[in-house]
Amino acid sequence: MKVVIVAKTRMGGGACVGALTFDGRSLRLIAPDRDSNPAFNMEYNVGDVWDVNAEAPEYLDPPHVENVIVRHKRRLPPIDDVAGFAQRQMPPVAGGPEALFDGLAQVAGSGALYISEEGGAPPYSTMFWQPDRPLQRVEDAKRVRYRYETEDGGCTLTFVGFQDPIPEIPAGSLVRVSLAHWWRPDEMPQGELRCYVQLSGWFAPGNGAPGDGPPGDEPQGRVSFGDGLPPGANPPRGLPFLDEEPHSPSLREDDTVLIREAQQMDPAAALKQVFGFDDFRPLQEEVIDNVLNKRDTLAVMPTGSGKSLCFQLPALLFPGLTVVVSPLISLMEDQVMQLREMGVAAAYLNSTLDYHSYLGAVERIRQGGVRLLYAAPETLLRPETLLLLEQTPVDCLTIDEAHCISEWGHDFRPEYRQLTDLRRRLPHAVCLAITATATEHVRQDIKDSLEIPEAQAYVASFNRENLFLQVAAKTDILGQTLAFLRERRGQAGIIYCATRKQVDGLTEQLRANGYAALPYHAGLADDTRRRHQRQFMHDDVEIIVATVAFGMGINKSNVRFILHVDLPKNLESYYQQIGRAGRDGLPADCLLLYSYGDVHTINFFIQEQDPAQQPGARARLEAMIGFAETNLCRRQPLLNYFGEAYDEDNCDNCDNCTKEQQELADLTEAAQKFLSCVKRTGEIFGASHIIDVLRGSQSKKVLSRGHDKLSTYNIGREFSKKAWKQLARQFIQQGLLRQDMTHGSLKLTKKGYEVFRGRTVKGVLPQKAQRTTRSTSAAAGPHDSELFELLRARRRELADEAGLPPYTVFHDRTLVEMATHFPHTESEFAALYGVGQVKLERYAGEFLPIIREYFAGGED
Ligand code: ADP
Ligand code: ZN
Repeated sequence: MKVVIVAKTRMGGGACVGALTFDGRSLRLIAPDRDSNPAFNMEYNVGDVWDVNAEAPEYLDPPHVENVIVRHKRRLPPIDDVAGFAQRQMPPVAGGPEALFDGLAQVAGSGALYISEEGGAPPYSTMFWQPDRPLQRVEDAKRVRYRYETEDGGCTLTFVGFQDPIPEIPAGSLVRVSLAHWWRPDEMPQGELRCYVQLSGWFAPGNGAPGDGPPGDEPQGRVSFGDGLPPGANPPRGLPFLDEEPHSPSLREDDTVLIREAQQMDPAAALKQVFGFDDFRPLQEEVIDNVLNKRDTLAVMPTGSGKSLCFQLPALLFPGLTVVVSPLISLMEDQVMQLREMGVAAAYLNSTLDYHSYLGAVERIRQGGVRLLYAAPETLLRPETLLLLEQTPVDCLTIDEAHCISEWGHDFRPEYRQLTDLRRRLPHAVCLAITATATEHVRQDIKDSLEIPEAQAYVASFNRENLFLQVAAKTDILGQTLAFLRERRGQAGIIYCATRKQVDGLTEQLRANGYAALPYHAGLADDTRRRHQRQFMHDDVEIIVATVAFGMGINKSNVRFILHVDLPKNLESYYQQIGRAGRDGLPADCLLLYSYGDVHTINFFIQEQDPAQQPGARARLEAMIGFAETNLCRRQPLLNYFGEAYDEDNCDNCDNCTKEQQELADLTEAAQKFLSCVKRTGEIFGASHIIDVLRGSQSKKVLSRGHDKLSTYNIGREFSKKAWKQLARQFIQQGLLRQDMTHGSLKLTKKGYEVFRGRTVKGVLPQKAQRTTRSTSAAAGPHDSELFELLRARRRELADEAGLPPYTVFHDRTLVEMATHFPHTESEFAALYGVGQVKLERYAGEFLPIIREYFAGGED
């Protein structure tokens, strides 16, 4: 049976579709899988003709008798004059709402139009109407309604269609109305059941309307679905709210001009002109080239390596839109803010936008005023967004964090799976999948899922050379943290803890010690969390103490240190977290405090997991331990883990490589004492009890078991209890002892027995076990720190005025360059890192005078 689609309305994630047969029957098409398929029915468009094989469902609920389940369907060429067709097949009623649904419609106290069970229901639920007065849009936060105004009150219909709701639907337009489901408010169980009347779409007046000539004779023009503007209606661009997007400066006139110029540039010129960078970083150029040539691309680049540029730059050069799928709302907001500061027209669509901002963004996209559109996957998959994209030329579809599409990744997100469908809908867009973590398996998964088998893969080195990697034995969290922070006063950093409780506790202690620190974890209220993140981004607070919940989407470029006081679950997490430091390329410090106790805790959680996941989780934990316990360059286990061979003997930027030529002490005697005591107490005790015996404790536990009679009793007074703990840990780490994962008891290994037969044990003597940390200053290098502070203060003022985080004005690195090269002219200023055309114009006048004055003052 051939049908013409005459309406498409919103319904959950999918669409409810109204159709007319060629013999004048009204149908509502239902997909058989609509319960499992969130984007069901999206393939239909108003005006389409389909050949469908459909049957009525087992049960029909009057008046909703139009429902049919579509078993098979085939798209046929569309017809031009849907409105004329509709009018011929199902003539509309004309007049006021009293004519609707056999005159059964009534007006509720709220003004809403409805039919009631008691008042009588019509034998159908869909119809067309030509209102004799205009319908005016009214809105509240939740929905859009149209109002039919009369002197004695009028009435309203909720708008459920896919069109942009224009301010006024002129009188005489052909509109489609339908009945919602039977409903009564929960709080009124006694009340009557009602079906509210909904407005499901309109056609431009004149499209075959009686009085404009015989139906169907006129050159009809296509239906207004989509562009949403009946001829003569007020164009929505005049609406006052279009540019009102809170917290984001709107695009300026001159910016758009700049962007038009950028489209004529080659990539290298755009890099300098717009972004203010002189050179591409590794792989950026190759990826950009491939994308600009419209070849599908998979880019695997570590955090901080400049992934964003790989899609931001092509976006400037493509005539059409670049769509960026990003799972992290804060990240997309941040990037849009930074792009706007560079003069690039960017927008985002996500669940945080209110309706007005949403419409404003949509309108700018329609007008071609947006180069980059960031959107969360669930927003992109919404029917209205899909519709928007189908009607907009899209040149590039970028899937950021593409590993989320794979169940083998560590961050699988089911909604990413549906991007395949989006990809199919945009056949002219090149696909760029981009991620910071992807093993071979995940890479293949990404290609398969997105159906880009031919995609060229670019895999960058994961080596973040500017990060100093360091692991220290965890002996005293607060003491070690304070020592670490003391050398880093005034620098921004993140401290990661395993639990919320620890986060709160440590934050308190740091504050008590005079540090501006704020907590961040999933237990805090949303707005508190957001506020804390914002304060950190804006340099209002230096330290964030956080669980792993923090940092998703932290783009702050001047994070100078990451301190892990607890062991991350795996190297993926660790790498991602340290990746938040040093994005500006300046040195940054990463210290992990390691204790074997953390391994127990993590193992405990692994045991609670789905058994199928346990072996994988254990293996990942093993790799994490291997990294923490290695005596080699730390970059070796880390990079090996990500499939990258790292062959340098000495990276010169990790604790093991920079350690003074091995000052390892001979611990053989201590090891013999300890191991022997473990053996003699029966290999059923943990380290604490062994130490008590060695140190001659009079505790009940020791005496009651007769352990004071052992030959190893009281032979270890040369080390403190704490020192012995550190030694024990080293013995475990070196594999002389194995610790039972459930009880913590220690047992000798084969290697352990060899110690009694003369095997030497080397290690770190306890007083030195607490390795000293290297100190770096925020901006190491020979810059003028007094000037730097002046510049920093000015940056802060400018950022505050604009409501932006300071680094969106300039990165630290740019200020450091100012305080090193002392630019005096605009062309010198333009040569600085991160100074593009727009920033030159905006900020040269703000910073140059400070530099000039600084030197003028000095010469007096
Ligand atoms: P990620 O790969 O984590 O997404 P970003 O795209 O945020 O990294 O880039 C990290 C930092 O590097 C940003 O501050 C960005 O401005 C800077 N950057 C990117 N490309 C270059 C380049 N070619 N030259 C200098 N800095 C760059
Ligand atoms: Zn090293």
